[in-house]
Amino acid sequence: MPTRPLKKKLWKISTTAILLGSLLVLASACGSGSSNTGNSSSTGSNSASNTDSTNGNNNTGGIGSSKIAIVAAENFYGEVAEAVGGDYVDVTSLLTSPDADPHDYEPTPDASKAVDGASVVIFNGIGYDEWMQKLIDASGKAADKTVVRVASDVMAHQDGDNEHVWYNPETMGKYADYLADRLGKLDPVHKQDFADQASDYKQSLAPLTEAVASLKQADPLPVAVSEPVFDYMAQALNLKITDEKFELAAEEETDPAPQDVARLQNDIKAKNIRFFVNNTQATSQTVQNLVDLANENGVPVIEVTETLPSGKNYLTWMTDILDQIKAALG
Ligand SMILES: [Zn+2]
Repeated sequence: MPTRPLKKKLWKISTTAILLGSLLVLASACGSGSSNTGNSSSTGSNSASNTDSTNGNNNTGGIGSSKIAIVAAENFYGEVAEAVGGDYVDVTSLLTSPDADPHDYEPTPDASKAVDGASVVIFNGIGYDEWMQKLIDASGKAADKTVVRVASDVMAHQDGDNEHVWYNPETMGKYADYLADRLGKLDPVHKQDFADQASDYKQSLAPLTEAVASLKQADPLPVAVSEPVFDYMAQALNLKITDEKFELAAEEETDPAPQDVARLQNDIKAKNIRFFVNNTQATSQTVQNLVDLANENGVPVIEVTETLPSGKNYLTWMTDILDQIKAALG
């Protein structure tokens, strides 16, 4: 995606204009709040800032707004954007209900309007929430937007990799820094604020980093999972997922092969796994039967969700999961 040299240039010109006492250009000094959207012609004394920038003045949320309009697909990414952008951004998250599954989300007209008006669009990418790319393309202003795809731009994953990168405990810190850098390009006046706020946000994740470090296994610990949402955290903790074929079937929404189910049942009964990780947001009768079997056999069940549960933030969401694991490992 294009970087935003136009913005930077605009800001420099704006400072000059402010020195000249032009109130007209003041709004754009804060990054993205200019009002002359789509007007590429010269307007009187302001001609300098319009030169070669037919799309430099991308719109945000309305006249008089001096904040950078950000739209995030998932609210856990929106939360970080709010922390990093602080007072200088306006964040809208499209997926906020713990019942909505980003895999199957159908964008509303409001969602497409929000994306159309956004300067910064954030989503996961690598096939997880492709509807967001469609909204960007449909807006006809794709080139005007700073687009952040966390899985690929921040974490260097590719299509075909496990999509659930927010379960990697390193992702949010890296994403915070990445976003601070991008916001600093859009709004250079507040570049340092964004860097500081990203740093504060990373500090706030210390309990997560500590929990991961304390639960990390010296030797791979066998566990089973109902589906792949938790895999990056499993890697970080040095857990060995023993039912890869079963979870793959769940991911592809196909029925698991009977021998894979039988093997998993066996592993539960023989306590070959230390716990079973159940994504309660993506359940099935087969999974429910396995949860029952685990309960009958005293194998702990760790409950995880695809998206942020209500009343939690990213940190408490993840640390609550790790607390369950700590209890399971005794
Ligand atoms: Zn998923």
